[in-house]
Amino acid sequence: MSDPVPTLSRKPYTKSYLLTPGPTPIPESVLAIGSMPMVHHRTPAFESLFREVESGLQWLFQTKNEVLILSASGSGAMDAAISNLFKKGDTVLTLNAGKFGERWTKIAQAYGLNPREIKVAPGQSITAAQVEKELAAAPGCKAVLFQASETSTGVKLPVKEICATARKHGAISVVDAITALGVFDLPMDSWGIDVLITGSQKALMTPPGLAFIALSESAWKLADASDLPRFYFDLKRERKAVPKAQTAWTPSISLVQMLHQSLKLIQEEGRDQLFARHALLANATRAAVKALGLELLATDAPSDAVTAVKVPSSITDGKQILKILRDELGVTIVGGQEELEGKIFRLSHLGYCDRFDVVTAIAALELTLSKLGHKVQFGQGVGAALQVFNKG
Ligand SMILES: *Cc1c(COP(=O)(O)O)cnc(C)c1O
Repeated sequence: MSDPVPTLSRKPYTKSYLLTPGPTPIPESVLAIGSMPMVHHRTPAFESLFREVESGLQWLFQTKNEVLILSASGSGAMDAAISNLFKKGDTVLTLNAGKFGERWTKIAQAYGLNPREIKVAPGQSITAAQVEKELAAAPGCKAVLFQASETSTGVKLPVKEICATARKHGAISVVDAITALGVFDLPMDSWGIDVLITGSQKALMTPPGLAFIALSESAWKLADASDLPRFYFDLKRERKAVPKAQTAWTPSISLVQMLHQSLKLIQEEGRDQLFARHALLANATRAAVKALGLELLATDAPSDAVTAVKVPSSITDGKQILKILRDELGVTIVGGQEELEGKIFRLSHLGYCDRFDVVTAIAALELTLSKLGHKVQFGQGVGAALQVFNKG
């Protein structure tokens, strides 16, 4: 197959490796489903597939609530959570540990809510104690909106504790788990998560274009009182369609079929093994990066989805790392956004990834750092990763 992104400096036989935290690589058997002839969605065959997808999602969310399927990227479900749950002027608390936390604040502002924000320095997590303090100062706060894994900095937030704190203060918890669900354990019902959101193009190993959202009974109660304008993303309307194995509008049929296959793979692997694999890949990546003398951005609470690494001071233009990796070595990773641009790079190990994806990323990183004049002893990072795999 010809390379979809040809570049001049790359040799023609250089393979492409997608090691970004969304979109993530797609398993071959899922890709194959994407080439099947189109079917109609109001048919018994599609409905039976839809039912299996729905139960697979409930299994992954660890919930009895309906998991609603929206045709949108993940942000569509974030938008829907705000527009369906709140009233104009409602006070909500947003936790800004990076770009995606900031997105909660921006969506809340766009709908005329009154967001209060806890903002921390990039790489830091947010504790339940910080949330407790802020909620105590904001009586009547309706919700705490946050990320389980903040993809822009590679930080993990203490979901269970924050949800419990929110509940104690009569607020619901709204959790963006777009790079967390399917990476580490997030049992919706037993942890009392009120709203849980994910997207297709991260741990679910499916192309971008589907967003998923589940609501607890308390969240549905809030939805009854909501007065914000909405039409397409109408969660009550979507909820009514679920027993009929349908969505309110035409679903992204091919993506739902592909998701059916990826959920099958995930269920075959099993939740415990799924989480253990992500933890192992994350541990190996961190060990490799440290062995190369580099520093992690998130030192206290690193997420198992993505590892953010500080560009060493010996390299003045951090964006060169991404460019060499992609254009010369065929390895696509991402850098930092806004104030972190050129200052960090992020190695993803989420979704359809295994040990040798980590080894590839680290080997390519060693070559790249060396090319940029950073002192590297070849094999030091790769060796540290292999040590972790040898034990795991
Ligand atoms: C990818 C991602 C999103 C959603 O981004 P989209 O581009 O809309 O899919 C939201 N939150 C987090 C934490 C993410 O990683």
